[in-house]
Amino acid sequence: MSVPQPESAEIPAFAENEWPRPFAEDLAYLRTALVNVFFAGKAGDRNWVLIDAGIPGWADSIADAAARRFGEGARPSAIILTHGHFDHVGAVATLAERWDAPVFAHPLELPYLTGRSSYPPPDPTVGGGAMATLSWLYPRGPIDLGGRVHPLPADGSVPGMPGWRWVHTPGHTPGHVSLFREADRTLVVGDAFVATKQESALAVMTQRREIHGPPMYYTSDWGAARRSVEILATLEPETAGTGHGEPLAGESLRMGLHALAFDFNRLAVPAHGRYVPRPATADSEGVISIPPDVPHPLLRLAVGFGLGLAAGVAIHRWTSGGRPEPRPSDLAEASRRGPRRDA
Ligand SMILES: [Zn+2]
Ligand SMILES: [Zn+2]
Repeated sequence: MSVPQPESAEIPAFAENEWPRPFAEDLAYLRTALVNVFFAGKAGDRNWVLIDAGIPGWADSIADAAARRFGEGARPSAIILTHGHFDHVGAVATLAERWDAPVFAHPLELPYLTGRSSYPPPDPTVGGGAMATLSWLYPRGPIDLGGRVHPLPADGSVPGMPGWRWVHTPGHTPGHVSLFREADRTLVVGDAFVATKQESALAVMTQRREIHGPPMYYTSDWGAARRSVEILATLEPETAGTGHGEPLAGESLRMGLHALAFDFNRLAVPAHGRYVPRPATADSEGVISIPPDVPHPLLRLAVGFGLGLAAGVAIHRWTSGGRPEPRPSDLAEASRRGPRRDA
């Protein structure tokens, strides 16, 4: 006897400039430059929750988007953080203060949200592209939310979101969580895996939207990251909103996520990098140990350029018989004398 399969979920149609943009009846998202924040609650609902808080400087835009979805003066009952990277907590202090809202995160993420520990340094040598190369410039905390931030309930429930549970998905950060609703198998992922518009072999396999592993430069434990993707794949989500990229649904989500879990080392883990052979370690007080630094790509480039320049100068001198180059003052003298007139 065959088991009836659920209808494949689809992202509802939206207008091009519609923000926040709905992707389920009671979920919408706003893209703050490069990273998404999520609004959990039906349009017009007075009981809603903000998930993540975008990059710094976006507090007003997030509050405006909330007012458009839930009505003027709308305040969330809670702010849930998937993790504490700067691009997910940029507006959290301002918004928690403005809305007088409690903030919740996994206990292992609290050191980075209460001023006790910085994250391990990003690894700018992995992934390629400007986002990775420049990652050594990104702030790595900690921020200090003081008494406003609380540990997520140990029973797995999510404050303000009945029917949802949080799932510990470490690897990208020690206390990273994803949020899951069993009833319709909806997932808010955070950065445990992401969907971006970049080209990839996996994107060709799955068509349309693309699934990638967690952002490489910021992931400090690849073994844990792989196990987290395996856990999320076993949940068989029908709809997923990720920290980066557009929401995913249906067949492309299922196939893409299973392919990523099955072949994680090849599809998601960089060939080399600071955290590839050994992870950074952390506990409830923050980072304990980090592997040794690896050369920065810009440094390697600069060293290569310097060596190339030195070699070029040496070869030039050798081939020109050791004749000294004209000094700048000789050139100035020559130009003052003007063009030579050969009679
Ligand atoms: Zn992150
Ligand atoms: Zn992120």
